Amino acid sequence: MMAQASKIRLIMKLRRSGIVDKAVLGAIERVPREEFIPTTFHDQAYEDIALPIGRGQTISQPLIVAQMTQSLELNDRHKVLEIGTGSGYQAAILAKLCRRVYSIERHKPLLKIADERMRMLGIYNITTKAADGMKGWHEQAPFDRIIVTAAARAQAPQPLLDQLSIGGILIIPMGQDKSSQFIYRITRLEDGFDCQQLMPVRFVPLLPDVAGNNEIIQPLATEDEQTSAEFMVPMPA
Ligand code: SAH
Repeated sequence: MMAQASKIRLIMKLRRSGIVDKAVLGAIERVPREEFIPTTFHDQAYEDIALPIGRGQTISQPLIVAQMTQSLELNDRHKVLEIGTGSGYQAAILAKLCRRVYSIERHKPLLKIADERMRMLGIYNITTKAADGMKGWHEQAPFDRIIVTAAARAQAPQPLLDQLSIGGILIIPMGQDKSSQFIYRITRLEDGFDCQQLMPVRFVPLLPDVAGNNEIIQPLATEDEQTSAEFMVPMPA
């Protein structure tokens, strides 16, 4: 009951913040976010904040998930590539709005949990692999849409641009550091790419290679650190 009330509050906030796509709002309403986060944070599942999911990573703030998803302009014929499966939440939202999702994560333990969740929730149109998503997924290309949920420093990885269909859209956060990151929408045209800057955000970095077990994980140490590692300052309406 409590969860239902806080979910309705969240949907209303998303609408006020410019999420007008009813299909996107519907997907957020139908995907149980509490299933994608550790039990300790269940009471915050429908607050508009990012939350830790382990391995120093976070599930994104719902408004950012909604804005990025809306910017993808999805339909049920689209084949979509996601880089950064994390908890699997964004992938589950995409899966409600397109034909098939391919999702890549560099932390194997996170991917294992995300895969189990998707099975448990009966979501069957997501295929995942543990790999370096910066290389894309050559065997499955081209993709109608690509979404990257970790921040590139300076430019979109070339394999992702190459694996985008003509007319396809790539949504990617980019910036040198967390204080200067923006989401960009890159559209592939017949003869090049069009790049549009959308809203300011703060994402965890896009890193190369598959993570080893010993990779140093930046702890989300202090309260401040945690909030800033999370996120995502929405653009004023
Ligand atoms: N979409 C996720 C958000 C995860 S945070 C969700 O809905 O929960 C970003 C994720 O990107 C992290 O799990 C991180 O490990 C992953 N990541 C970073 N660089 C990557 C890369 N090169 N390839 C694949 N995954 C990457």
